[in-house]
Amino acid sequence: MTSLRNYINGQWLASSASEHLLVTNPATAETLAKVPLSPAEEVAQAVEAAAEAFKQWRRVPPTERVQFLFKLKGLLEANVDDIAHTITLECGKTLKESAAELHRAIENVEVACGIPTLMQGRNLEDIARGIDEFMFRQPLGVAAAIAPFNFPAMIPFWFLPYAIACGNTYLVKPSEKVPLTMQKIFNLIDQLDLPAGVINLVNGSKATVDAILDHPQIRAISFVGSTPVARYIYSRAAANGKRVQCQGGAKNPLIVLPDADMEMTTRIVADSAFGCAGQRCLAASLAITVGEASQTFTEAIAEAATNRVVGNGLDPAVQMGPVITAPSRQRIEGLIQQGVDDGADILVDGRHPEIEGSEAGHFVRPTLLANLAAESAIAHTEIFGPVLGLMAVDTVDQAIALVNRSHWGNMACLFTSSGAAARKFRYEAEAGNIGINIGVAAPMAFFPFSGWKDSFFGDLHGQSDHAVEFFTQTKVVVERWPREWSRQF
Ligand code: NAD
Repeated sequence: MTSLRNYINGQWLASSASEHLLVTNPATAETLAKVPLSPAEEVAQAVEAAAEAFKQWRRVPPTERVQFLFKLKGLLEANVDDIAHTITLECGKTLKESAAELHRAIENVEVACGIPTLMQGRNLEDIARGIDEFMFRQPLGVAAAIAPFNFPAMIPFWFLPYAIACGNTYLVKPSEKVPLTMQKIFNLIDQLDLPAGVINLVNGSKATVDAILDHPQIRAISFVGSTPVARYIYSRAAANGKRVQCQGGAKNPLIVLPDADMEMTTRIVADSAFGCAGQRCLAASLAITVGEASQTFTEAIAEAATNRVVGNGLDPAVQMGPVITAPSRQRIEGLIQQGVDDGADILVDGRHPEIEGSEAGHFVRPTLLANLAAESAIAHTEIFGPVLGLMAVDTVDQAIALVNRSHWGNMACLFTSSGAAARKFRYEAEAGNIGINIGVAAPMAFFPFSGWKDSFFGDLHGQSDHAVEFFTQTKVVVERWPREWSRQF
């Protein structure tokens, strides 16, 4: 089996790595490829190529830079089915989910095509007599993305299109669990005829990441992954003087009020909790019912959990694929048991399912744990699997208090037909992404992805104007042109 290659300075290069990991299909446990754990020298090679390319790339007019993005959009759109197939193969989600994440990547390319407008500075004539002041945005230099396994196509695109449109050059380090998607996408990037070194790809895991964190020529790092790693990356990269944004893990609560449309709510909550096998940073993992919503919602969600069609995501009839690895499945099953040991009632038990034709796959079926105690570890631990915990309270205030006691702050949602309850929730809930009758409140590309608390380290988020701010530094110019000098004209 050949090892995957890195893409450095416009060329596909074999890695000199002494260590490799196997990339496997989570639905079948079959080996798909071997990914190199690239050494620090290969990171340095990519950074040097990017730093050299930056000298000219920053001078290319933004109107010309975005032409490459228009071309990339066309290529990505023409290859949606092929790339979606690869995402499903290595990540396990359904083909529909894979195509949807790719469309979210493309949306970010579209927004970044607006850079000639988005990157504009501002100015004011006559800040004093004969003196004008201008603020320009200039690119930083070389920037890098370190990505997680759960959205192999979309997540690097929260950053990459903005970075290069602003005139930076770039390095992507995909998750070692799902490196094939970026191989496909870089085959398209290779067709753009970009100047060599503008976008580079280096595969690897911790040691490769550490080389990125320590490389003096990398000016900015965008990370998405688990909170312990986010915290580590934020502190190490910042200590090295870099601009850093780190999106971490989550434990997303949603509140169901008795006046919610129960049929719609159940469908949306089931999609949020069990879609992508619960491996979304915006997956619902706690449903807090208020008053009499408890009984109706619990019955309906139990039925939805039981009926969800689980299997290989390549099968169009399947609604939920496997989780990413065998250790991940074991961890999820262990956390379910911990919930039961802590006193929760297991209403639907998805452990050890038999999936016909996919016996070797890493499957956990949708699971429901009811009567979760607010203090139990499971109420605060990110499970990252298709497990929904249920809690029942009497008032909206009690429900919001439960949401706000969490140390996570990625997303919180409310299901109701009351505008007053919606406004109170939107105003008081301590999370950066809020859904009202929405189960996965993923901001569109023209809004920032706004995690709070332990779900985010940094200040500027990914996507939209935040990405433009993150990938540029402001330069303020104050000019004096005495009036008498112009008398000659
Ligand atoms: P992870 O933290 O294990 O890995 C993410 C990246 O960090 C990978 O590229 C990996 O190679 C690297 N890495 C892992 N351990 C490292 C270490 N010790 N030192 C340096 N680098 C290291 O995350 P994952 O399991 O791939 O992804 C799932 C996690 O990502 C979940 O916690 C999920 O909530 C989170 N996530 C968050 C968002 C968000 O927007 N907040 C989006 C997607 C996923």
